[in-house]
Amino acid sequence: MSRSVSVVRGARVVILGAGFAGASLLRHLPSYLRRSGETLLIDREEEYTFVPLIHEVAVGRVHPDSVRSPIAPLCRGACEFLRTEVTSVDLEQRTLETPEGRIGYEYLILNPGSVAAPPPPEMRGFFQTFWSVDDALTLRGSLARSWDAATSPKGAQPGALTVAVVGGGATGVELAAEIAALFDYLRKRSHRAPSAEPRVVLLEATDRLMDWLDPYFDRVARRTLSELGVEVRLSAPVTEASAEGILAGGEWLRAPTRVWTAGIEAPPLVRNLPGEHDVMGRSFVDEHLALPDHPEVYVLGDAGVYTDPRLGPLAPTASVAVQQGPWVARDLKRRLRGAKSRRGRPPFRFFDRGYVVSLGPESAVADAVGLRVRGAPAQALYRSIFLYYMKSRRDRILTGADWAMERTLGRVGFGAPGDAKQQG
Ligand SMILES: Cc1cc2nc3c(=O)[nH]c(=O)nc-3n(C[C@H](O)[C@H](O)[C@H](O)COP(=O)(O)OP(=O)(O)OC[C@H]3O[C@@H](n4cnc5c(N)ncnc54)[C@H](O)[C@@H]3O)c2cc1C
Repeated sequence: MSRSVSVVRGARVVILGAGFAGASLLRHLPSYLRRSGETLLIDREEEYTFVPLIHEVAVGRVHPDSVRSPIAPLCRGACEFLRTEVTSVDLEQRTLETPEGRIGYEYLILNPGSVAAPPPPEMRGFFQTFWSVDDALTLRGSLARSWDAATSPKGAQPGALTVAVVGGGATGVELAAEIAALFDYLRKRSHRAPSAEPRVVLLEATDRLMDWLDPYFDRVARRTLSELGVEVRLSAPVTEASAEGILAGGEWLRAPTRVWTAGIEAPPLVRNLPGEHDVMGRSFVDEHLALPDHPEVYVLGDAGVYTDPRLGPLAPTASVAVQQGPWVARDLKRRLRGAKSRRGRPPFRFFDRGYVVSLGPESAVADAVGLRVRGAPAQALYRSIFLYYMKSRRDRILTGADWAMERTLGRVGFGAPGDAKQQG
């Protein structure tokens, strides 16, 4: 560790980010690194959000607290936790800049994830983003208010219940399906039919949904979305937006609720790192998941782009992040024991277990270890995978209970029919 700059604290191993990659790494750290002084975990948040389920928070199927868990317990007996924001990395001095002062490291594991790619500047003020629990709660509020207005005695304008979801990636598809299922749920429970027709329109600029996945996902998703009543518009890039609606594929759509889910990018911390980056700003890493000129700096999860010899550049997904974390724990162990040769330090290889996309509460589509499933069995698979990925037993119990109680107690934030005061 360099001593030429003043360092307020430091550790042999510094892990930045307690998300999917960081938490899975911590669970596999070798015993001699599982002590404070040896390992320091830094995250700017007190709690970690299980983002793959925020579309269910937005429609009230899962309580926001069920997908948020405290970070500090991850460190119990294994490391020190520092809650602060890292603003930059000095690779030459081997330090991190934070409001608490500079932090030194011998090995740095960077897993700060990614951020939502915003709409073009001229449209930015007219869309909600969808990246955090707060975004999900904002959307839940807009949906509850629109439904309430449309079922009030005063009635609502035509188009008042139209929701435009921009971006036909997995996030846009899952969200559109959930909102359509929510409208169906509210229609069945409501004391009065809405005065405006509930509509969910999913807009995608290319000619396929989820184009980085096998075309099977597109086929099944389009069929299921159509059954749920979602209108899918392909080759429909959004070119204009206002407070009333959007222009997409040359067609004007009046939509008071507009959500932007089109794309992600690396945070500035990663974009500003020296070295090569892909179009999303992710840092290219070598076969050991480290920066090519800085073998002491690993970049994992959404922040790094690893090119697998068989599969090409890996997509930014939780399944990649949770394989990289444990692999780096093993690589650190080998290095600290002095392994240098390729045999002693085998390269990272991704084991593609497939992917699953939820299509509303009753259905999903999956291609898992070569097995294609859709409908209710895929939804059961989806739920078991996410319960498994959750960091604590508490989160699993709370989320499982939310799913189980939906039918008897109703959805969180969508109160009894016609009772606007209960909408949260
Ligand atoms: C809505 C949504 C749905 C998704 N659905 C799926 C899915 O179904 N399946 C799937 O495989 N993937 C899904 N993903 C992608 C998946 O969530 C990411 O690939 C995964 O979170 C990446 O893990 P990570 O460890 O790289 O980063 P994260 O899990 O995002 O963790 C990053 C951590 O770093 C911290 N951090 C960031 N910057 C700083 C800083 N400057 N200083 C200090 N701390 C910092 C953050 O607070 C956070 O705790 C989804 C993503 C979203 C947004």
